[in-house]
Amino acid sequence: MSSPTKSHCPCGEEPLDKVQGRGVLGAECAGRVVCNVRWWLCRRYPDELEDFVQDVYVKLVAESGLGTFAPPPGSGAEAFRGWLYGVVRNYALCTIRRRKLRAHIALAKTEMLPEPTDGSQAFARRCIVDMVGAAVETVKNRWSAKAEGWHERFDVFLQFVQEKDSDYERARARLGISYENAKKLRHDLKEEICLEVRAQVRDGLLLEPGLDSETIERMIDHEIRALFDEAFPDNCVWDLFFPEPNHESDPETKP
Ligand SMILES: [Zn+2]
Repeated sequence: MSSPTKSHCPCGEEPLDKVQGRGVLGAECAGRVVCNVRWWLCRRYPDELEDFVQDVYVKLVAESGLGTFAPPPGSGAEAFRGWLYGVVRNYALCTIRRRKLRAHIALAKTEMLPEPTDGSQAFARRCIVDMVGAAVETVKNRWSAKAEGWHERFDVFLQFVQEKDSDYERARARLGISYENAKKLRHDLKEEICLEVRAQVRDGLLLEPGLDSETIERMIDHEIRALFDEAFPDNCVWDLFFPEPNHESDPETKP
């Protein structure tokens, strides 16, 4: 196993470059990093090139970074550059996924999104925020009425549903409930809000008498998708409004 020497780029074909390669890569490899980041991320997020490149270097100097590259025998610089491409690609896919999740959080916080482009987009967003707000309020009242302590449970689990928190351990410690119970509560709350929103959408549909429930559910799906496409054309934010498969009844997770 050849570890990169202090004076050479791990590609083996160029000296380290202090400025472009930050003392870690040579100029050509550093240029590839920038190029790959541009391709993978800056078409979506054009203003953040520097930050993304910086993140990639943080990954490269980490323990799981450059030290793990083992050049195939007899390979040239392109083997390393191919590996580098993979590092950037993985980083980019993670970043995009994380940001989509963040867009998802933005449900109740549409001010995080770019300004609406026109009146109908603004209107669609208003509708969604109002619907979610009303649904959350209804479910909150229902949970608070259950018993003492359920009001607090609601507050804690709403954070999970909105993906603002992902630490079940903290919820467990705060509420004194089991991990399984915590997961189930999150699932239940999400489902209740989802059903509540769907009930509102259903109320707004002009339904001919005699439609079967499957058709009605499909119409509700269609309505919600159309509304979200109008409101957030580039963001995948609507899955809160579609029932989540119940993992307990998922045969794959059964022992
Ligand atoms: Zn190089």
